[in-house]
Amino acid sequence: MKFKVPYVDFPLFYSIHREEISAAFDTVMSSGRFILKSEVELFENKVSTYAQSNHAIGLNSGTDALYLAAHLMNLKPGDEVITVAHTFVATVAAIKLFGGTPVFVDVGEDHNIDVQQIEKAITKKTVGIIPVHMNGRVCDMDTIQQLADQYGLWIIEDAAQAIGAKYNKKMAGTFGKIGCFSMHPMKVLGGAGDAGMALTQSEEIADRLKIVRNHGQRTKEDVIEFGFNSRLDNLQASILLTKFKYLDQWITRRREIAKIYDQSLAGISDIVTPYFPEKNGKHFDVYSSYPIQVRDPSKRNALIDALKEASIECFIHWPTPVHKHPKLNLSQFNLPKTESLSASVISIPVHELLTDQQVGYTVDSIKNFFKR
Ligand SMILES: *Cc1c(COP(=O)(O)O)cnc(C)c1O
Repeated sequence: MKFKVPYVDFPLFYSIHREEISAAFDTVMSSGRFILKSEVELFENKVSTYAQSNHAIGLNSGTDALYLAAHLMNLKPGDEVITVAHTFVATVAAIKLFGGTPVFVDVGEDHNIDVQQIEKAITKKTVGIIPVHMNGRVCDMDTIQQLADQYGLWIIEDAAQAIGAKYNKKMAGTFGKIGCFSMHPMKVLGGAGDAGMALTQSEEIADRLKIVRNHGQRTKEDVIEFGFNSRLDNLQASILLTKFKYLDQWITRRREIAKIYDQSLAGISDIVTPYFPEKNGKHFDVYSSYPIQVRDPSKRNALIDALKEASIECFIHWPTPVHKHPKLNLSQFNLPKTESLSASVISIPVHELLTDQQVGYTVDSIKNFFKR
């Protein structure tokens, strides 16, 4: 039996929840109130309560969350910020565009920053660390926080992929000065377009974020600095509010599907599954992606083609690590694990609306490929 297995399935979600989504859309359209109105505040309150965060600030994207966070850190020329090259380019753009110098540390077995290698990357110029919680798994924040305290560094979390993920029972995005989230349609909680959020525990930072996201205006009459237009709009907020009710249920389902993959792909010696032990209940992963690694990278494209042929949609996160884009002038870093991941990973569908049949079909298609 042949199935279609989309990577994400907004149309299916919409067909199930059409009434709710249409009602949310209708409310905003009928009111004609689009910018910084009640839906945005309601959504902010939902997320801050959910994450047990003092503040949540709705933004137009995860990228702008990172940009505003970097902006608030007042980077001076020469300031070094430690992060990874196994990430979306926006993490690094935030450092570069706001005046800093990115310093890359390689990733470890769980695709997150290898905390054992952070200390040797710290210099007198280091001012901060941006850990990226890749694939919905929080980085080893105990070690990162301890290093940050020891060396007087700030932490900004790139939690774009990690809404709902936990470490020591604490939510992603609540460890650092600012936690940056994306609600891009491909993320665990995705809108019908771009959207994002910043979390912070500091009232001062929250106030400042609200001002810089809105052209530096404290009020219309009172512009206190130059800012940006980085607001979350009401239509997206109303759709996200509707989707938010299902977030925990979806995370449960993603974890269930990941477990099925863990178990049923374990026997295939040609691939490595992202089996990241959730040691002592320390980690709670949300599986924003489920990246398998092909042991022989020369077979990756053929596997992707075979899966495409079987109507299974996959992605590579990311085919080129950030430091390997020649025009970005960051090629001085030597990151073997990052490079081998880029050459070998394939993210297979793991979204919450997949049926067990679709998951089984995906497993069988991968098995069949390596049998032939
Ligand atoms: C998606 C993503 C971003 C950017 O978020 P947008 O909402 O698409 O701007 C940043 N960092 C990581 C790790 C991401 O996956």
